[in-house]
Amino acid sequence: PFRPSANIAELRESATIAVSQRAKALKAQGREVIDLGAGEPDFGTPAPILEAAKRALDEGATRYTAVEGILPLRQAIATQGNASFRGTEAIAATDVVVSCGSKQSLYNACVTLFGPGDEVLVPTPSWTSYYEMVQLARATAVEVHGDPARGFKVDVERLERHATPRTRGLMLNSPSNPTGAVYAPEELRAILDLAATRGWWVISDEIYQRIAYDAPAPGALDVAPRRDNLIVVNGVAKAWAMTGWRVGWTISPPAVAKAMTALQSHTTSNTATVAQYAALAALTLGEPVDATVRAMVAEFKARRDAALPILQASRALTVLPPEGAFYFYLKVPGAGRVPDAGGAFCQELLEKAGVAIVPGSAFRTPDWVRVSYAADKAQVIEAARRIVATADAMA
Ligand code: PLP
Repeated sequence: PFRPSANIAELRESATIAVSQRAKALKAQGREVIDLGAGEPDFGTPAPILEAAKRALDEGATRYTAVEGILPLRQAIATQGNASFRGTEAIAATDVVVSCGSKQSLYNACVTLFGPGDEVLVPTPSWTSYYEMVQLARATAVEVHGDPARGFKVDVERLERHATPRTRGLMLNSPSNPTGAVYAPEELRAILDLAATRGWWVISDEIYQRIAYDAPAPGALDVAPRRDNLIVVNGVAKAWAMTGWRVGWTISPPAVAKAMTALQSHTTSNTATVAQYAALAALTLGEPVDATVRAMVAEFKARRDAALPILQASRALTVLPPEGAFYFYLKVPGAGRVPDAGGAFCQELLEKAGVAIVPGSAFRTPDWVRVSYAADKAQVIEAARRIVATADAMA
């Protein structure tokens, strides 16, 4: 009989994927379901990127590459990083490791930097996988709950309160999944200064950086004076609508890049060669790819602007106005009274109103729920109305 090994005994299924599966099952039964569970742009990959990928295939992009990725892609990533970074150590292609998605890059970084006995500060709520990845590295994820009044952002004081001599690092994610909060340059800088002083690693997940609505979202490289304790994670999935291509990367100090490459050489090797050429096109073709990305971001903003006032009119919901990414984070009725208020709300909403969203327990804040607006605008508006009706009826 199968008994999970000690490596995965504590692992939880990804709740975001579980909700999508339940929604798909209902759809298969003929139910009409609006699925706002997934964190996936509903757009196709921009056409010039598809063309570049087809050309690359015709030219033979079908074999293994270096584990860490093709040189022109790593150079393009380094060039982009250097455009932001004004600190002392310029970024070289050897500091870049390309992987099968920012998810793998985050995992590479966690397993490479953290191990048994180490504690890693995780601003909470955070994307579900951070907690599990730290656990898979056999380190301990320490939840640092942010201030709901500030979009759940953490600050130096909150981080210091959770620090111990075993603290080895910290996860950052701005714009945030699930809250949509964006750290201001001075907020980010203060946290990076703290980490540098304490000798902590910072893993900065910037996968939503280009999806910011009211002001540009700064990345760690924009504000860090040094980067010898910094791992920047990014990828093409969200901003370029390239989730299925599986390309992500890290920018790190060279010794860390070398260690992560060694790890990746024993797990996946390189990500798909054709996908690397597609990512190269995304980063280097300029207009019209950039124009398409801007248009997609403008459409996400239009959806946010349409649905936000509907949600804010509810007497039963607390709404965090998102500044980036494509999620609303909502506090639901029953919060503080019912053990898993978010889960109960999601279940009620899916079964009665046919809208799939994700319980906040996936992000370690069970009084909340996450609503993705990476979906058709009319559907997002309709879903917002049903969410409010359900919440107000439950209150
Ligand atoms: N980081 C965050 C915060 C995410 O929300 C996601 C996807 O949902 C990822 C990373 C993973 O993205 P990728 O498709 O590049 O692996």
